[in-house]
Amino acid sequence: MAKKNEKGRYDNGPCPFCGRAIISLDHITKLSDGTEVCRDCVSKIRVMYPLKYWKKKGKKKTERLDPIEKLSKEEFRAAMEKAPEYLEDLRAKYGRNAVYAVEDIKMIPRGWFRPPYICTTGRVIFGYFDIGDEVEVVRRGFSAKVKIHDIERESAGEKGSDAWIRRGEGGYPLKWMVFSQKDLLIGPGDLIVKG
Ligand SMILES: [Zn+2]
Repeated sequence: MAKKNEKGRYDNGPCPFCGRAIISLDHITKLSDGTEVCRDCVSKIRVMYPLKYWKKKGKKKTERLDPIEKLSKEEFRAAMEKAPEYLEDLRAKYGRNAVYAVEDIKMIPRGWFRPPYICTTGRVIFGYFDIGDEVEVVRRGFSAKVKIHDIERESAGEKGSDAWIRRGEGGYPLKWMVFSQKDLLIGPGDLIVKG
């Protein structure tokens, strides 16, 4: 239970895995036994336990399913030990440092002389993507270099800084990753890769 400290801010105590104070301005993950874990430690194993979002039929509200919330403290600790090797295997499999899988696209026209915004939704399989990153679009027999124009994570109202919301990270679905480049083709099933 969060208590206010002498500075009047909510103090959630130290994270049991890294010892850092858990910041109540961030979304706090609670394990099945009530253990509260800091955002950085959750990020380390997120790639093994991807976050899922969906909307119920006819409902506007986004639902969220976090498989990490089903883990016990011991299971979380075991996952942290396994995570580096898991990530290495993914890097070896794809031969890249970061991979984002495009699931859907929407084109937004910008006027006569300017290429449209290609707004993709999808999920970061592993690694990190930031706005401005030079990446590659990969589909069978074809690849093109492109710069990331914008990023926003999918969310169901979770708290987080703007920098956090606007970074694509392994295991997290994106509300959008936007590109705008002349003659660029991107479609569902394409991979956006980095490094
Ligand atoms: Zn931690």
